[in-house]
Amino acid sequence: MTCAQAQPLLSAYVDRELDITKSLEAEDHIRECKACAATLQQHEALRSALGAASLAFVPPAGLERRVRKAVRHEAKPRVLLARAPWRWAAVPMAATLAAALTWSIAMHREGTRGNDVVMNELVSGHIRSLMADHLVDVATSDQHTVKPWFNGKVDFAPPVTDFTASGFPLVGGRVDYIAGRPAAVLVYRRRQHVVNVFIWPSAQQEAEALRNVTFDTYHLVRWSASGLTFWAVSDVSDADLESLAHLFQNPT
Ligand SMILES: [Zn+2]
Repeated sequence: MTCAQAQPLLSAYVDRELDITKSLEAEDHIRECKACAATLQQHEALRSALGAASLAFVPPAGLERRVRKAVRHEAKPRVLLARAPWRWAAVPMAATLAAALTWSIAMHREGTRGNDVVMNELVSGHIRSLMADHLVDVATSDQHTVKPWFNGKVDFAPPVTDFTASGFPLVGGRVDYIAGRPAAVLVYRRRQHVVNVFIWPSAQQEAEALRNVTFDTYHLVRWSASGLTFWAVSDVSDADLESLAHLFQNPT
């Protein structure tokens, strides 16, 4: 990537709006290029100034729902095309196809969107949280602080438990946007690794057993309980992710 290619992307990079391939390319360039690194710092300074409480815009109630409805209505075909998984040049085609096939049945059950798209966004969200210094919005291992922090930010109550005693200390939480809906994200550490657990309301009420999938080099484990869908994403082993999932399923 050249400076001329990198410069127009820096603002979107700071706002974490680039897809994963572009993000990594931009990051490679920024690491090598002092000029673009300086521009990036300016964008970051501007972003944090705009994020200050006195300037933050508080949207009126219902705005998000209206915008999402309008976007779904107007742009559905384009959104689906733009988010097709094969723009991921870095993902081997065979792996993508295998993942798509494995999940095609679940896709129909989920209804609205394919799980391959969801997994793409989950892995992107996981990587973004690691490289853009945006791991958590509320940084504490205190479950009694993290749980109420989600009030008013998502319209469901994610279960929040610190599993330090079982080797998964809670780092904090944040809200992400996955496949067109807000997701509560709980962040745990496993030794030196980060596990993101994405949570949103499930399409069906009945609990679903664990399912494993590997997407790119990342492991994902999905399950449902109490009307919520959970996706744990990390580069730790499947066994580690399953242990964390079992802790969620039997927190006591
Ligand atoms: Zn440059």
